[in-house]
Amino acid sequence: MNATLEAASRRTLRWRTYDERQSRRIDAQLRAGGHPCCPGCGAALEARPETRVARYLPLDATGYDLECRPCRRFRAVVRHTVRSLRLVRMRRFAAAVVAAGPAARALATA
Ligand SMILES: [Zn+2]
Repeated sequence: MNATLEAASRRTLRWRTYDERQSRRIDAQLRAGGHPCCPGCGAALEARPETRVARYLPLDATGYDLECRPCRRFRAVVRHTVRSLRLVRMRRFAAAVVAAGPAARALATA
């Protein structure tokens, strides 16, 4: 997922995603229920109705961007559906099986 977002941000002229640490700070602000601020400059983040990474979202998931214009950085907030979440979990499971090697693959398909 993060590799996908990185690839997407490279194709978006000048606008870049926040790095991992900054993204986690924004997510924590969202969970706390406050209006999130830019971890770089402290400005209030503006919501953009559509996300720049929409084409990379799985199935019927939707999303929006929280952006800082001065820093030209954004955080994509993904709203999953039951279907898209299931697909993401299946992909993670498949990736974990592949990463675990041939022995685990034999177990998974047995
Ligand atoms: Zn900023």
